[in-house]
Amino acid sequence: MIEEIIELLTDLVAIDSVNPDLVPGAVGEAAVAAHIAEWARTAGLEVFVDEVEPGRPNVIVTARGLGGGRSLMLNAHTDVVGTAGYDDPFEVVVEADRIRGRGVLDTKIGVATALVLARRAGALGLRGDVVVACVVDEECGSKGTDALIADGRFHTDAAIVLEPTELVIVHAHRGWAWGRITVHGRAAHGSRPDLGIDAIVHAAPVLAGLGVLQQRLATAPHAVTGPSSIHAGLITGGAEMSTYPASVQIDVERRNMPGDDETTLAAELDELCALVDAPAHAVAATTFGRSPLMTDPEEPIVRALRAAGPDLAVGAASFWTDAALLSEAGIPSVVFGPGGGGIHETEEWLDLASLETFGRVLWDTVQAFCA
Ligand SMILES: [Zn+2]
Repeated sequence: MIEEIIELLTDLVAIDSVNPDLVPGAVGEAAVAAHIAEWARTAGLEVFVDEVEPGRPNVIVTARGLGGGRSLMLNAHTDVVGTAGYDDPFEVVVEADRIRGRGVLDTKIGVATALVLARRAGALGLRGDVVVACVVDEECGSKGTDALIADGRFHTDAAIVLEPTELVIVHAHRGWAWGRITVHGRAAHGSRPDLGIDAIVHAAPVLAGLGVLQQRLATAPHAVTGPSSIHAGLITGGAEMSTYPASVQIDVERRNMPGDDETTLAAELDELCALVDAPAHAVAATTFGRSPLMTDPEEPIVRALRAAGPDLAVGAASFWTDAALLSEAGIPSVVFGPGGGGIHETEEWLDLASLETFGRVLWDTVQAFCA
């Protein structure tokens, strides 16, 4: 089985699928999606191609069950991050203990493993459906999984999102929220302190307050995911050297532990705005956010994974995944994947020893859940 997975993985990694929303002009997921669809049709599996955006198709592959069993989604993204500074990112190098190449771990190994397992499930004749969702755009806006959920046809009984977790069964992670504080002053000629209100100087208490808030959040961790956190992401302000700055924007990101959401950030931003002294003033807005993941460890899909891999750790990831979207849509979801390194760096690799365990545990889970 591992040989079949590596063979398909090698083909997938060799196909450029850099996310065009991350890197303007990048090729996107069309070519890798075409390869997946062709492979799955040849394997005798059902194939549904959904053009989420022009040139950016989700490919949903189904190993149809005999009926009467639970359905399981294996979800992995086909897009990869950029390759700036990477020597030969799409040249797949297979070594004794690892495989190198952009996307090999994040998440083409997920795609390849899920497809090979679907083929095996089809041949075995399980009662439940095994649905392999090969989705676009996870690395930027999650348009692929959003479209999959909106479509509604693939509402399975559970889902496993195949992001690299170093073989930890991840049932929880934090969400996030973005917001902006705008501090308003008044523009004036640099020689006229009597007229100008320096928005940048008046923003100082906001930045200091942000630091205090971060310290406060760190003292109240969630038992599973750890604490929420907050930081400045961008600061933009002023017009030119000889003019009093009329405004400054501070863009803030908050990582939300279970229980926190955009309203939590909105309240904190209002507190920070109140620190700005007259005659300046500040206003805040939240712009975008994604929910945390908090799947009950006693959910059948978590129990199935724990039974298949009794030695594996169960816990939280530091990063956000599409599993939160699926859970929010009513599909109990977990995250599980192999180990390696160099994700989003210039030397990405998959650990082959962890692939053995990953493949075995996932296959046992599929058989038990969909039996
Ligand atoms: Zn990923």
